[in-house]
Amino acid sequence: MTYELRCRECHKSWGNVPRSICDDCFSPLEVGYDYEAVHLTREQIAQRPSNMWRYAELLPLPANYHPSLPVGFTPLLSAPHLAKELGAKRLCIKNDAVCLPTLSFKDRVVAVALAQARSFGFDTVACSSTGNLANSVAAQAARERFKAVIFIPADLEPAKILGTQIFGAKLVRIAGSYDQVNRLCSQIADERNWGFVNVNLRPYYAEGSKTVGFEIAEQLGWRLPDNVVVPMAGGSLITKIKKAFDELVKLGLVDAKPVKFFGAQATGCSPISTAVKAGNTEIEPQKPATIARSLAIGNPADGHYAIKAIINSGGWAEDVSDAEIVESIQFLAETEGIFTETAGGVTVGAARKLYQQGRIAPDETTVLCITGNGLKTTDVLAGAYAAEPAIAPKISQFDKYLETECEELPA
Ligand SMILES: *Cc1c(COP(=O)(O)O)cnc(C)c1O
Ligand SMILES: [Zn+2]
Repeated sequence: MTYELRCRECHKSWGNVPRSICDDCFSPLEVGYDYEAVHLTREQIAQRPSNMWRYAELLPLPANYHPSLPVGFTPLLSAPHLAKELGAKRLCIKNDAVCLPTLSFKDRVVAVALAQARSFGFDTVACSSTGNLANSVAAQAARERFKAVIFIPADLEPAKILGTQIFGAKLVRIAGSYDQVNRLCSQIADERNWGFVNVNLRPYYAEGSKTVGFEIAEQLGWRLPDNVVVPMAGGSLITKIKKAFDELVKLGLVDAKPVKFFGAQATGCSPISTAVKAGNTEIEPQKPATIARSLAIGNPADGHYAIKAIINSGGWAEDVSDAEIVESIQFLAETEGIFTETAGGVTVGAARKLYQQGRIAPDETTVLCITGNGLKTTDVLAGAYAAEPAIAPKISQFDKYLETECEELPA
């Protein structure tokens, strides 16, 4: 076994078991690897299929695991038009709006969690979710023949509810916030032999997020960026991108270099950015009130570690209002042709502020993590566009229409 669970604080080893908290000191557990035993070259990786499993040696997978789904390896796109508008020069987008199978980066974490769920002998998998995790667990459970029980706050976006039910998962709507749903799931996990991907399987699950970082480095030509801007809910993704970069340096796959980590939240649920701005290293929980439902975690499990990653790197955190989220979704769509969900609006809106504040320098290579797809949160755009009148299928009508309705179009 080349990996095991270790306590993040007291460093006690727990082997490989479905648990997420150290019983001795109540700190979170984290997967640790025997890096001496990992032998991996850029050439080996390059020969493998274009999906996240190309980094299998750096993921906690059961021996002889054969993945069946090609998850990840989403495009890293240069974003010249968005860059120009933001006053930036070297701006890239990591586009997990098109991650397969369910169009968010959560497919990466679920893929790793289900690999472990199988090896621990669970036949039912479960999760507490702000939406995208629900979709991903439901879809991958269907494919991998697990039963799935999905717990969500009752008032999630319709597309995320339907996008869970379609896969035949049992959906349990809870009249409460995500934080209440999550607490309930911890209690259920103590009673039932279910694999909760983000509760008892959480340390394994979270490692899947590292693949975003591995891919960014590989797609930049095995170089680390100067800055990354990452949306934060529980605060796990941002810490795992950092862990990925650190591992690549440790294995000699990229040259060491300082990378600044910038976190993005919605102002209506901003426990992490609020702490960063106030110079606190601990989270003060909030009651979420934002359209960015996928980021609406008021008491983020990895908040403390996200703050540390941000501050120690020389980065910063910003947050944006609901109106700015909607504008930023439109802005990204109009400049780069990418339709992201509310979390992506948060990332773009925060990036705009960070450039304005001079916290990100224009010449530096900056990657924005777009983590989810806009077709899942169309409700936030209700009323944003006028219903166009229907015209008769006649050239005369079209000419007249152009004259009267579309003054901006070229003749
Ligand atoms: C869950 C989620 C995040 C945040 O992930 P954490 O690791 O919990 O911080 C970001 N974007 C989207 C679209 C998500 O669904
Ligand atoms: Zn401990």
